[in-house]
Amino acid sequence: MGDDPDRKQEEDEFIQSMQMCAIGCMTDRYRMAKGAKVGETVICPTCEKQFIKRSYQQAFCCNRGRGNCKDRYWNVTEDERRERTVERIFG
Ligand SMILES: [Zn+2]
Repeated sequence: MGDDPDRKQEEDEFIQSMQMCAIGCMTDRYRMAKGAKVGETVICPTCEKQFIKRSYQQAFCCNRGRGNCKDRYWNVTEDERRERTVERIFG
């Protein structure tokens, strides 16, 4: 028991699908935040915190400092895009 490769793969696929879902939700929230008007309440794509949009291009509750929501968002979504591109080329 323990080392069941099928089970391991199932778990990997489950984790992967969860990540895909999270990235999909983040992308949706990003589009909504981008589409909102200044002064409207939007939801941060990364941390789901509500905030008032202060400038036309703002899409995140914070974009300063280490590990801010803007950087985290792009880190996650860019990684995903890179992986899919690799799959398209080599898969
Ligand atoms: Zn945030």
